[in-house]
Amino acid sequence: MAEIANGNVASNMDPDSWAAPAALREARLQEAKSEKLNLGPYDVVHAFWLAGMSCDGCSICVVGATSPSAEMLMAGTIPGVPRVVLHHPVLSVEAGDAFVENYRMAERGELGAPYVVIFEGSVADERLAEKHGGYWSALGAEKLPNGQSKPIPTASWLSRLAPNAAATIAIGTCATWGGVPAAAGNPTGAMGVMDFLGQNYRSDLGLPVVNIPGCSPVGDNFTETVAAVLLFLQGLGPLPEFDELGRPAWLFQETVHQRCGRAGFYEEGLFAESYGDKECLVEVGCWGPVVQCNITQRGAINGMGGCMNTGGICIGCTMPGFPDRFAPFYKMPPGSLVSTNLSRVTGTFIRTLRRLTQQFQNRTTRWDDHVPSGWGNVDKPSFAKRLVHEVYEKYQFLGTSKPGSHVDKTGEDNR
Ligand code: SF4
Repeated sequence: MAEIANGNVASNMDPDSWAAPAALREARLQEAKSEKLNLGPYDVVHAFWLAGMSCDGCSICVVGATSPSAEMLMAGTIPGVPRVVLHHPVLSVEAGDAFVENYRMAERGELGAPYVVIFEGSVADERLAEKHGGYWSALGAEKLPNGQSKPIPTASWLSRLAPNAAATIAIGTCATWGGVPAAAGNPTGAMGVMDFLGQNYRSDLGLPVVNIPGCSPVGDNFTETVAAVLLFLQGLGPLPEFDELGRPAWLFQETVHQRCGRAGFYEEGLFAESYGDKECLVEVGCWGPVVQCNITQRGAINGMGGCMNTGGICIGCTMPGFPDRFAPFYKMPPGSLVSTNLSRVTGTFIRTLRRLTQQFQNRTTRWDDHVPSGWGNVDKPSFAKRLVHEVYEKYQFLGTSKPGSHVDKTGEDNR
């Protein structure tokens, strides 16, 4: 087993070995390069992934991203975006000391390239664990003066690396706002990265913490934001727009409801009574009308899936108030009592009128009396419906000529 290091492990390792720290191999690669990319000053940017109190769901969503994919970022195939060298506790090839050495090199400023810090999971209050001689979540270990080794909490790595990072990105609701580990009654003192680093934190690029919430988030939201921040770092793109909570504004300013495929049912006052129904799910507990998230539009992976798209309700997982402020799940949000009842009243009226119009729009102009379908009998609209439709059409073609009509809008017959 490799000895736990205090200092510079890199000097003892063969940089050409596949098991050497990736950061060491990269530094050699950069030294050997005589040419630079034309697009911007940086060929590579290191990404240091840290996991606090997490379930690894954020890592899973990122490896499933497609637009752009993690592979595209890591292969450097996006024009202008520097290649990302990812240091990830699960995905990296190196292990043990060689892996942790990457983080140490970043701390010592030996990378020769900028780096970003990505934090997944909430940041536990390690002081609470330390009182009992333990820790909540750690990465690597270091030797104490008494010769014993001590795990390095990921919270400690965050403190060490964030000040010199080009950007610090919190991925997932645990890292952004605290999430499930910070729910009421949790003994770990868990919090989001923004709480941990404080309001005055600024990265080397001058950015406060960038927050990509969701449990798990949409992987594409993360990779797209990373690409946008790296383009800015490269001097090739504007600073992406973030809202007052550090969320990418273009991804989180609208509500789930505004893009939901079931919103038309809501508008017409049609609501599901149980799961599996096709209508709007608000009365079985959906919080979509107030939750900022784009999953109904973007899907979970590769445009597919996503909570309401697949029959699930929105439980507000992207929001700072999650989970406590959205509990109990599966109960109708109180605000919906007003909006759904109003929608039922207006929806019933509007729906009736729409079905009437639909009945006529389902006929060609040849079929006014009889529909020659062999599939079933299509009833002729009643006299009252024809009368209403007559008025509707008059209004529709007011000031213009009706297709097939020989009378133009001045009232002249053009035959
Ligand atoms: Fe809105 Fe939820 Fe209904 Fe979709 S299912 S329309 S998000 S309330």
